[in-house]
Amino acid sequence: MRRVAILGSTGSIGRSAVEVIAASADSLQAVALVAHRDVAGLAEQARLLRPKWVVIADREAGQTTGPGTFPPEVDVLVGPEHIPRVVSAPEVDVVLSAIVGRAGLEGTWAALSAGKIVALANKETLVLGGPLVTDLAHRTGATIIPVDSEHSAVFQILQSGGKKHLRKVILTASGGPFRNHSPEQLASVTVEEALSHPTWRMGKKITIDSATLMNKALEIIEARWLFDLQPEQIGVLIHPQSVVHALVEFVDGSVLAQLSQPDMRLPIQLALTWPERQPSIARKLDWSTAIRLEFEPPDWERFPALQLGLEVARVGGTAGAVLNAANEVAVEAFLKGRLPFSRIVPLCRRALEAHPFEAAPTLERLLELDRWTREEVTRWIGLGA
Ligand code: NDP
Repeated sequence: MRRVAILGSTGSIGRSAVEVIAASADSLQAVALVAHRDVAGLAEQARLLRPKWVVIADREAGQTTGPGTFPPEVDVLVGPEHIPRVVSAPEVDVVLSAIVGRAGLEGTWAALSAGKIVALANKETLVLGGPLVTDLAHRTGATIIPVDSEHSAVFQILQSGGKKHLRKVILTASGGPFRNHSPEQLASVTVEEALSHPTWRMGKKITIDSATLMNKALEIIEARWLFDLQPEQIGVLIHPQSVVHALVEFVDGSVLAQLSQPDMRLPIQLALTWPERQPSIARKLDWSTAIRLEFEPPDWERFPALQLGLEVARVGGTAGAVLNAANEVAVEAFLKGRLPFSRIVPLCRRALEAHPFEAAPTLERLLELDRWTREEVTRWIGLGA
């Protein structure tokens, strides 16, 4: 029996994880569920899974609970300071890190510090602090199992072909809703259009990241640190069907791929149960029908986020924290109608160029630069950037 804490249980990944755990009652048990403001969603999950703890990170939202909101045996904790406490509790074996954005850092860091198995969906933590995060896991004996479908695919492929024979990792990308848009069309896309992803149903932030291809840029950086790859070893291929999640080419030219339906319940379950594989509720490929798989190289000019991802993976240091913060602020401004879609990536480049780069920052310095970037980018947007 694996005892699981879900950080971000009310989000898209979190809800899929709840379905996986509910369907695996003999091998997975939820001991802690963490949300930000969605008290009603959290209460419903608590009634289903009966965890030991629920954490409502937002204090104001925490005030809205009353007697009877949660089952009586569930301990209700309010405030973000409880997140590190519950993830490091001896009752927890695996922490699913699925809070969105930089807000996911503290919980992930605490889980790694406590030497837990971390099923990592929150890629922003690795983008922000890559080598510090993997170092921490090394020191404490914690294990990071990727949940991102592309990285889960690479992780699975590397079980059969060793890292020392690896030549190149290729991350696939659906191309998002604007795969065939011209630069002129990209300049006027609406929030609603950007939120309608062709193959995946995800939270708003990652859906916009998928439309700019910033998500793939973040994944390049994530792969660089997670698998200790040189940036030149990481490629991107547009694959509209989202069935092949990654390919790994070995030195002899052999290429292995991982295929499955675009359904996050599979990589979530694998990360929670690894090294076991269990029957899964995820949708399966139907081999009795024709399956068409297409691949094409991405257009680096129309989607300049990809170039940024490679550059940041190359230079490391403070660049990841700045890229991540700038992107979070710009995406939020776009979602609120304050920034055109086509300005998101240029703002990220501007922040990268404006910041005082350091090659080997501490975590404190990265957090300082995260704050600096948020303030600067917010100011630029206010000035009509
Ligand atoms: P969602 O926006 O759907 O969910 C975010 C979750 O984080 C919610 O539970 C939310 O709580 C919680 N949350 C937000 N801010 C805070 C905070 N300050 N403190 C505590 N909890 C907080 O995101 P997704 O599920 O789509 O994505 C989660 C992570 O997984 C991201 O890093 C994303 O890149 C990654 N990922 C997602 C994939 C997907 O298919 N969705 C695929 C691969 C990776 P509340 O609901 O209460 O606001």
